[in-house]
Amino acid sequence: MNEAVSERHHDIVIIGGGAGGLAVAASLYKRRSDLDIAIVEPARDHYYQPGWTLVGGGVFTAEQTRRSMQSLMPAFVTWHQTAAEQLHPESRQVTLANGTTLGYTMLVIAPGLELDWQAIDGLEETLGKNGVTSNYRFDLAPYTWSLVQSMRSGKALFTQPPMPIKCAGAPQKAMYLSCYEWEKQGVLEHIDVHFCNAGGVMFGVPEFVPALNEYVQRYGVRTQFQHTLIAVDGPAQKARFRQTSDEGSKEVEMDFDMLHVVPPQRAPRLVRESSLANESGWLDLNAETLQHARFSDIFGLGDASGTGNAKTAAAVRKQAPVVADNLLAAMDGKPLPSGYLGYGACPLTVERGRVVLAEFGYAGKLQPSFPSWINQATRPTKLGWHIKAQQLPFIYWNLMLKGHEWLAKPKARV
Ligand SMILES: Cc1cc2nc3c(=O)[nH]c(=O)nc-3n(C[C@H](O)[C@H](O)[C@H](O)COP(=O)(O)OP(=O)(O)OC[C@H]3O[C@@H](n4cnc5c(N)ncnc54)[C@H](O)[C@@H]3O)c2cc1C
Repeated sequence: MNEAVSERHHDIVIIGGGAGGLAVAASLYKRRSDLDIAIVEPARDHYYQPGWTLVGGGVFTAEQTRRSMQSLMPAFVTWHQTAAEQLHPESRQVTLANGTTLGYTMLVIAPGLELDWQAIDGLEETLGKNGVTSNYRFDLAPYTWSLVQSMRSGKALFTQPPMPIKCAGAPQKAMYLSCYEWEKQGVLEHIDVHFCNAGGVMFGVPEFVPALNEYVQRYGVRTQFQHTLIAVDGPAQKARFRQTSDEGSKEVEMDFDMLHVVPPQRAPRLVRESSLANESGWLDLNAETLQHARFSDIFGLGDASGTGNAKTAAAVRKQAPVVADNLLAAMDGKPLPSGYLGYGACPLTVERGRVVLAEFGYAGKLQPSFPSWINQATRPTKLGWHIKAQQLPFIYWNLMLKGHEWLAKPKARV
């Protein structure tokens, strides 16, 4: 339902109709169906972003990852189809871009994160041409696949910006699926593949690194750590990096025929420039309860959160029921019952047909969903691929966004 009103009050206002906003609305409704819930969301379309890696790998079409927001917006919410502009936590109000002011009893903040394309000089104007692509945009992921298919020789660069980013494994997933295709086509030996990573390791959780290194070797990838992309000259096909080491930092230039870029990422302005942010700009939440550190009537989840989990839809799947339980308890003046242990998952598509299903919580503690006789947690498996390519899209659209909390029952707080 669309509404244009100048002032309105809701029991619960949810900012964002992405993975987090829709999942938490469904989980709230499941627990209490008489609440007046509003979702503030400007976008016409909703994307299953985890699918974009598979679009770039030629497995899904882009259209398989898109649904109209209208078709997903539950009938029980009031949809304000506009952006939240400003947060006023002291007066329990949110100002919207269309001029409406919303009052709330409880607020949930889930606007995702901001991709900072402009932080890299010359990048935006060359995206989608000159061999420059990114699986981080719906419209560009198909270009990744067309570049992969047409490339027979030359130099391919895959970049990874400083953390935090959503789905920390996605920069290298793009690389492995490209290499797998080139290997299959018999051209990999003519392609010089570089992984240019702003960080110093292949993956933040050490248990998964040996399996990844095996694929780095198999595909002949040259890893270049402490390399941060700072500028791109599309027409000249040159990329400039800042390379840091113990001796200091210097700029290095590399030619490319194909460049897969993952942009730096930051909290959305709405959060970053509000009193609700932590010192890094992310939403300042209690990591276990997902309640705001200073405002007990505010909760948050998803990529905007400053909790130390992997920013993934998998994290949202576990967070939404925790937020629903705790928000309703806070509303009733009761102790918060449920705890989030930092679960996130990154299905690393090391080849077409095998995935290392990296599942872990706070401080990198492994949290596999399945016992090792079903799926080996730190090794590439066919089952992992089946889960990524077939099960997870189904779970997202039909379970997570609908309040069916499969494998996501909240843990009682200790
Ligand atoms: C290439 C890629 C690969 C990925 N792979 C995986 C994977 O394999 N597994 C996995 O679990 N996750 C993966 N992810 C991450 C996953 O998609 C995100 O973590 C997840 O979507 C986060 O949910 P969210 O609700 O926080 O943000 P989003 O789903 O991005 O939704 C945010 C919503 O908020 C809206 N919004 C923004 N600003 C405002 C505002 N001011 N007012 C109102 N609404 C606003 C936006 O329009 C959007 O609809 C991947 C992401 C990418 C890009």
